Amino acid sequence: MKKKMSLPMQILIALLLGIAVGLACYFGGFASFTANYLKPFGDIFVNLLKFIVVPVVLLSMIDGIISMNDMRKVGSVGIKTVAYFMVTTAIACVIGLAFANVFNSAGLFPVLDAAGAEYEANAFGGFMSTLVAIFPTNMWKSFTDANMLQVIVISLFLGGSILAAGERAKLCRDFVSSAYAVIEQLMSFIISLAPIGVFTYMAWVVATQGSEILVSLLLVIVCAYLGYIVHAVLVYSLSAKIFVGMNPIRFFKGAFAAMIFAFTSTSSAATLPVSKECAAELGAEDDIASFVLPLGSTINMDGTAIYQCVATVFLASCANIHLTIGQMVIVVVTATLASIGTAGVSGAGMIMLAMVLEALGIPVAYIGLIVAVDRIFDMGRTCLNVTGDIACSVCVTKWEGRKN
Ligand code: ASP
Repeated sequence: MKKKMSLPMQILIALLLGIAVGLACYFGGFASFTANYLKPFGDIFVNLLKFIVVPVVLLSMIDGIISMNDMRKVGSVGIKTVAYFMVTTAIACVIGLAFANVFNSAGLFPVLDAAGAEYEANAFGGFMSTLVAIFPTNMWKSFTDANMLQVIVISLFLGGSILAAGERAKLCRDFVSSAYAVIEQLMSFIISLAPIGVFTYMAWVVATQGSEILVSLLLVIVCAYLGYIVHAVLVYSLSAKIFVGMNPIRFFKGAFAAMIFAFTSTSSAATLPVSKECAAELGAEDDIASFVLPLGSTINMDGTAIYQCVATVFLASCANIHLTIGQMVIVVVTATLASIGTAGVSGAGMIMLAMVLEALGIPVAYIGLIVAVDRIFDMGRTCLNVTGDIACSVCVTKWEGRKN
């Protein structure tokens, strides 16, 4: 019998085909064909993923909590997870700043005139009101708005309460595991369509982004990508090797499908179903991955942190502002917080960049200088964000004394 090609292989072929078709359309002058007739199929695929993301996060987290069977275990997994997220994000900021400063002092960043730059940021209410807003007043509204931080809080409360209610909650337990089984089934069907999403989005990006703005910002993009790559090689390889005893090549091979999918979809939330498959393949325990991955896709954004640091140094240099060491520390702190607040959807990291710029007194309108190429930055940062989530689920499995 003929063996079916594995999903990572299908995704890789779709990626290469997408690049080839995108280049052909770009040089043949058919860029609008990709935008009008290929991208919509990618959009359908991403819509399907978005439509299951709220039930996936809700049921996956509740199911993970219930399977741990003990609130203390949930606390122990939670602390390790958040500690891993915070430490790796802070390291990401340092790497991003280091590369940005090297590029900046070597005069490699272009000096762009920001006179015509336009960008309007949403007003930030400050830390305390952001904290208050994480707690929902209406559960259904959190679901319809897909407010993932609120959905996570709801999952924690419901999961904890089901455990606390013991025998009386048996019906709820059974309901959650049965509903989750249905969603998993649906997820695997949607994931099997991933090659279509990867092909169409890749062809569209390659055919439509080849403009002069890309060339003028090329070195800023290169700087961010160097940061992404060094972070992946340094932090995730070492995590896999030191904490799990896993060969880094094996780790990246296992995470490959989710990485490519994140790269093309630019959404950690939409990649969640694929990340779950990859984490399972790498030996992460189901209850732990069910808890870590949804949380990570919402708050753990190492790639976004690197991007925000690089963009901040670049935009500061365009504004003729020389950042002092004290201001760099502010960048690390605000970029860490901004990346936590960044939703796992396309382009969210750029919106939160405004928070870092505001903290440093750099005009937010300067974001207008990089907005046109945000998707290129976003592809790499989302890829890194998702890899970090998978790495964490594998490490926490090990730290909890389970075998990988
Ligand atoms: N697109 C990123 C993600 O989903 C967030 C960002 O824009 O930085 O992880």
